[in-house]
Amino acid sequence: MSVPQQRALKTAIPGPRSQELHARRVAAVSSGVGSTLPVYVERAGGGIIVDVDGNQLIDFGAGIAVVSVGNAAPRVVERVHQQVADFTHTCFMVTPYEEYVAVAEQLNELTPGEHEKRSALFNSGAEAVENAVKIARAYTGRPAVVVFDHAYHGRTNLTMALTAKNMPYKHHFGPFAGEVYRVPMAYPYRWPTGPDNCADEAFEQFVSLTHAQVGEENCAAVVIEPIQGEGGFIVPAPGFLARVAEWCADHGIVFVADEIQTGFCRTGDWFACDAEGVVPDLITTAKGIAGGLPLSGVTGRAELMDSVHGGGLGGTYGGNPVACAAALGSIETMRAEDLCGAARRIESVMRPRLAALAEKHPAIGDLRGRGAMLAVELVKPGSKDPNPELTAAVSRACHADGLVALTAGTYGNVLRFLPPLVIGDDLLTEGLDILEAAFAANA
Ligand code: PMP
Repeated sequence: MSVPQQRALKTAIPGPRSQELHARRVAAVSSGVGSTLPVYVERAGGGIIVDVDGNQLIDFGAGIAVVSVGNAAPRVVERVHQQVADFTHTCFMVTPYEEYVAVAEQLNELTPGEHEKRSALFNSGAEAVENAVKIARAYTGRPAVVVFDHAYHGRTNLTMALTAKNMPYKHHFGPFAGEVYRVPMAYPYRWPTGPDNCADEAFEQFVSLTHAQVGEENCAAVVIEPIQGEGGFIVPAPGFLARVAEWCADHGIVFVADEIQTGFCRTGDWFACDAEGVVPDLITTAKGIAGGLPLSGVTGRAELMDSVHGGGLGGTYGGNPVACAAALGSIETMRAEDLCGAARRIESVMRPRLAALAEKHPAIGDLRGRGAMLAVELVKPGSKDPNPELTAAVSRACHADGLVALTAGTYGNVLRFLPPLVIGDDLLTEGLDILEAAFAANA
């Protein structure tokens, strides 16, 4: 690997060159675009990000669950080089090409369920979710979409409406798209009557609210993340997903699994739905699919995907050949290097360490997630009151010590860990040491 797999701090974080670039950025880039950690990147690979000051940081973020195969993964680089040299764009809607078809074939094969499937490709996660809703509406002839508390589905107008959290995603950006209805999520840690009742009661509320406030016959789709991402890595109470999916099937409602963050080996399976035997009608994918190039997809039952009028789906860049080549290299890497197994190995290293940390620090209220998608929720000791201040302090301390750690959660009180699946055990352990020290110094 060309990037040395070692943490090394040469300057304070951020260093002087990063600070210079940051000053240029402030003068040139809209302040509406934020950055978690303004070190400016020179190279990255494996579990390391090298900044312009020569600092080598351990990556527990993978560009928000994108570079699961690692940055500049060799098979991705090779295929992208070849594709860039062959042709960069013709527009699949004008003169198509094999790479798009090959990605669709892979998606149809890898996503849950043995039924006949079709796929369509887009650029961003939000665009995939928008298209899933379009397809569900076209198929059912119904308008309404049901989504959940703590959901995140994107930042376009429709997906802002689907997303739960106001700040920073929706604030001042309304009015939002209509016919979107929100119901409680089966969130075990915060379920009012306790985690044991969560699946049953959340399912009952989902059914009664959907029936009373929407009406089954008006409902095109239920859209859900099988493990919520930005909302705080909330794993729904066991059985909840399957019951929602079954109820949707009974009422002709399209069950859409948004696997944009959970998909492509992240949770230890190809898709998070696999762990519960849930087969969605439509599944949205992005992020991990293409090793860092922008690509997203909607995959689903052939009769649904083919119910849209010809020309109804598409976009200039959707399924761009370079992004498709990257996806083929990325999927090949996942198969060849068993990255689902790698995600499970990462969990086997991280979970016991995080559990020990939780034993020691009462501020850790909950430890949850699956595979290489793990998180701790921080609270004020002795209560479940969210503790975003401590979350920010711990994450700042991690950054200063050369660990890229991310936060999440409706209340900003979740530290989430999403390392590249190719990270070595040494870096994983060192990252956890840094996290432990950050808790010791701040909690
Ligand atoms: N859905 C989920 C579950 C996501 O995690 C994200 C991105 N965080 C999106 C949709 C939106 O993806 P994008 O940022 O590529 O539009």
